[in-house]
Amino acid sequence: MHKDIATPVRTKAILEKYGFSFKKSLGQNFLIDTNILKNIVDQAELTDRSGAIEIGPGIGALTEQLARRSGKVVAYEIDQRLLPILEETLAPYDNKKIIHEDVLKADVSTMIQDEFSGFEDIMVVANLPYYVTTPIIMKLLEEKLPIRGIVCMLQKEVADRISASPGTKDYGSLSIAVQYYTTAETVMIVPKTVFVPQPNVDSAVIRLTLRDEPAVKVISEDFFFTVTKSSFAQRRKTILNNLTSQLPEGKEKKEQIITALNDSGIDPTRRGETLSIEEFGMLSDKLYPSFH
Ligand code: SAM
Repeated sequence: MHKDIATPVRTKAILEKYGFSFKKSLGQNFLIDTNILKNIVDQAELTDRSGAIEIGPGIGALTEQLARRSGKVVAYEIDQRLLPILEETLAPYDNKKIIHEDVLKADVSTMIQDEFSGFEDIMVVANLPYYVTTPIIMKLLEEKLPIRGIVCMLQKEVADRISASPGTKDYGSLSIAVQYYTTAETVMIVPKTVFVPQPNVDSAVIRLTLRDEPAVKVISEDFFFTVTKSSFAQRRKTILNNLTSQLPEGKEKKEQIITALNDSGIDPTRRGETLSIEEFGMLSDKLYPSFH
């Protein structure tokens, strides 16, 4: 077994050798604790027939653990300066591929077809760049990729919002967007001390497991998400007021909105944060004919 990349001493030596300076704008906070990395990989429940997709390998700390524990790992890295470093640090592993690309612009679906045919399952495992956490997670879910799930490190505050239940302060359109596609759990709270440089915010690891079917069946997904976003536009407003002011033509259709709320058994004076995904599903289907 090769020496781990993610020890403080080895990380420092690698960074010094290449004269690497961190770019805050790219969310570069590298992990220097092998126990945390192993815990993250444990959460993904990989086998040697699993494919792993990583976003932002950095100097390869997590990539290395994934190469050891999966059949193959493909990692997207946006920062060209890291490519020669990764070439050296990951040289002992044949079952890895680094793609130099912004993951938000990448055709992940075609990559999966090209790189992972014949694999039993595919997991995304990442210590995400915090400036783009939500766009990355939503891209992976909205593209309906053939993945089993996502295990990722992110800001604790975003983890709280993603896994929140109705009636709590963190529950909102992000909770619904993610829980529509997955079951979401926070599996670890992570101290700042395991990163270099240390981030300004607290971190957590979440596990998202894709559902076989979305949490609720709706006539139109787009309209369902429009309704949920509109319902949380101003958290202190009632659902009726938010929908009336936010939905296109909502003001002209206030009567229809009241009828749809009543038909769904939802008191128009409730706030969006009290509605379950099922209630949003029902409401969006009742509203749909008036808005199409
Ligand atoms: N995986 C490494 C670790 O855990 O030590 C590094 C994680 S660091 C939080 C995030 C990494 O994502 C950095 O290497 C950064 O350059 C890369 N990155 C930032 N934005 C990206 C993007 N849009 N697409 C791909 N990689 C990105």
